[in-house]
Amino acid sequence: MVKQTIQIFARVKPPVRKHQQGIYSIDEDEKLIPSLEIILPRDLADGFVNNKRESYKFKFQRIFDQDANQETIFENIAKPVAGSVLEGYNGTIFAYGQTGSGKTFTITGGAERYSDRGIIPRTLSYIFEQLQKDSSKMYTTHISYLEIYNECGYDLLDPRHEASSLEDLPKVTILEDPDQNIHLKNLTLHQATTEEEALNLLFLGDTNRMIAETPMNQASTRSHCIFTIHLSSKEPGSATVRHAKLHLVDLAGSERVAKTGVGGHLLTEAKYINLSLHYLEQVIIALSEKHRSHIPYRNSMMTSVLRDSLGGNCMTTMIATLSLEKRNLDESISTCRFAQRVALIKNEAVLNEEIDPRLMIKRLQKEIQELKDELAMVTGEQRTEALTEAELLQLEKLITSFLEDQDPESRLEVGADMRKVHHCFHHLKKLLNDKKIFGNNTVSNTVSSESKDQDCQEPLKEEEYRKLRDTLKQRDNEINILVNMLKKEKKKAQEALHLAGMDRREFRHSQSPPFPLGNPEEGQRMRLSSAPSQAQDFSTLGNRSSLLHKKTGMREEMSLGRQEAFEIFKRDHADSVTIDDNKQILKQRFSEAKALGESINEARSKIGISENMAVPLMPDQQEEKLRSQLEEEKRRYKTMFTRLKALKVEIEHLQLLMDKAKVKLQKEFEVWWAEEATNLQVNSPAVNSLNHTKPFLQTSDSQHQQSQLFSNKSSGGWEVQGQGTGRFDVCDVNARKILPSPCPSPHSQKQSNTSTPLEDSIPKRPMSSIPLTGDSQTDSDILAFIKARQSILQKQCKFTSLGGSSRATGHQHLWGAHSEVGGE
Ligand code: ADP
Ligand code: MG
Repeated sequence: MVKQTIQIFARVKPPVRKHQQGIYSIDEDEKLIPSLEIILPRDLADGFVNNKRESYKFKFQRIFDQDANQETIFENIAKPVAGSVLEGYNGTIFAYGQTGSGKTFTITGGAERYSDRGIIPRTLSYIFEQLQKDSSKMYTTHISYLEIYNECGYDLLDPRHEASSLEDLPKVTILEDPDQNIHLKNLTLHQATTEEEALNLLFLGDTNRMIAETPMNQASTRSHCIFTIHLSSKEPGSATVRHAKLHLVDLAGSERVAKTGVGGHLLTEAKYINLSLHYLEQVIIALSEKHRSHIPYRNSMMTSVLRDSLGGNCMTTMIATLSLEKRNLDESISTCRFAQRVALIKNEAVLNEEIDPRLMIKRLQKEIQELKDELAMVTGEQRTEALTEAELLQLEKLITSFLEDQDPESRLEVGADMRKVHHCFHHLKKLLNDKKIFGNNTVSNTVSSESKDQDCQEPLKEEEYRKLRDTLKQRDNEINILVNMLKKEKKKAQEALHLAGMDRREFRHSQSPPFPLGNPEEGQRMRLSSAPSQAQDFSTLGNRSSLLHKKTGMREEMSLGRQEAFEIFKRDHADSVTIDDNKQILKQRFSEAKALGESINEARSKIGISENMAVPLMPDQQEEKLRSQLEEEKRRYKTMFTRLKALKVEIEHLQLLMDKAKVKLQKEFEVWWAEEATNLQVNSPAVNSLNHTKPFLQTSDSQHQQSQLFSNKSSGGWEVQGQGTGRFDVCDVNARKILPSPCPSPHSQKQSNTSTPLEDSIPKRPMSSIPLTGDSQTDSDILAFIKARQSILQKQCKFTSLGGSSRATGHQHLWGAHSEVGGE
């Protein structure tokens, strides 16, 4: 058992703006515990804090200043925890701090650079590396990813979910068994046999989380995310299994609000915005106070899930993330205060060992067989499962004579056989019940004393029988219990297998073929090809993105107009720079990998040639020379191979980052699109009024009833003619109909009498237009886009009149070739 208080670390985020001097200082004396001093500037101190204190000092295990990189954080904070998890102890690392202080950056990592990857990917990498090195045990690794939002748990890795919002995900609920162990129902565990598989799961979960998030629920700042690595290990042949869990926790933003109505006392009166953080604090306070018997874990889902991590069987580490800018000082002080409390909590981590029930059953079955054999030897008869007909008959005779015997001393002797004893009782019960039914209670009168002479002649033997009988019964019970357990386990395993199978199949698709290198073992592990052609199309991106695409809006299904809008949105989006940068890096890495692959092949063939040479025929000196050359080549080969391996991991990571960035981009586009669509719906009666302000927007005279007509005659654009009932005809540049106009319904025909004939609305000059689909939903999307475009044009127009410079060319550029400015 390891007793340890929760370790607390602080990490200061680099400031967005230039560093403001003198706000904090770090005292890292070698001998003393490092401390962080936060200095409140006079104005702040006067304004908010009434006790006139100007500086606050907090002690931490270690404090990482702005310049600490992700590698340093991993090496100092996460690696020791991962180490004890590998030994079989539970571990938890949680990041705590206000929104924007770097929790996600620390736990998961930044989305831009490979070197920015955070604790989770680095820990996975480390753990799998260690597992590969240790051949003395058999390891299995499972991953789960839970998000808690508004007291509800959601499984971010559920293979079934096609969720577009958090609420669509299956809810994870807490079950507590009689021993007060927490079980999470509906949280899937996914086996990961390699680092890549585990990394894929992380990105899948992150992507699902991103997709499920809407601007309304702000899940990323209001929710807690718990990424768990479940590790079990077993020595070959042993019945003992070790289980360890590592929770990597990205908590909700810890920002607080001042209690309204109480002026001033910000630091003392502030309350969490997030209720479950409030409960977390309650638990921490209770734990840090000595002699508190009741700890309110059950108040919230998060504290229930993390119960072991807080004051239980776990080695726990907290990272206080701090954004030490002037406006954040109060929050930073709250974070540090929280950390100081946390540091008082003592945990007791134990090795979680468990007997494997299957192996136990085998052992017990063997013991039973031995006991049976022993019994047979003593009684001189072999025992079968059930009593024979003859035995049953004989027993019934015995019972009858026992019942009829008048002697009060008489006994019913059936020998040392539990089957017979039980049968007698059953029979007697039956007789008694029959007697009750007939109301003739004469059992006591029929007792006889016949079997007196059957008294036990060998008391010692009898004793022995009883002992054996009892043991046998005990073992039978044990077996029953274990068989039940086994059945349950089996069922669980099958379910898990089923789920994992579904999931793995999905992932397997996204993997490229194995590395066709000479070394079969290495080759199996390496998926990066050294062959140039394969190195070039090494991209597993396509398949993987299709997986992600399935989860997102699916661009293939976008209408053309929407795609066009997306392209533009993408071009103007800040993230596209990141994507492009990463593409560039990827390209570089690919060519580097390709070159390396070629060199490796070369080195390999050289080694092959040298080894095949008939060395014994050579004179000693030459042999020596060749041998040293060979060694040199081998060394080179090894170095290159290691480098290639590292490159492969980096390439994989970059691809995942890019996928994520793409999904994010698309997601943001969807949000923007939806907003525009709502605006359109809200403002649709005002379309007319828009025309007064827009020089290039005129509604047609034919606009009436529920049909909407967006005609853009002066600047070109799309010509859309509504025909009642939500159907639209669309005209191409040369009045070509792109989509056949849906057959007008009788209703719409009626209306078409009053609406302007189609020909009238076709402009006399060339005009570009976009195809509508006839599907009302999609068409309304298209209209939303047109509307959005109009509003942008409008803004640009304002710009133009303000700045005086013509934006016409900018406009053309912005909307590209798809919307030529017709006739102007
Ligand atoms: P939180 O999860 O606490 O809300 P984030 O991790 O999202 O905060 O960080 C906010 C922003 O600051 C992100 O853009 C992130 O990349 C950046 N950031 C945070 N910590 C660091 C750091 N140590 N170095 C560089 N950038 C950081
Ligand atoms: Mg975050």
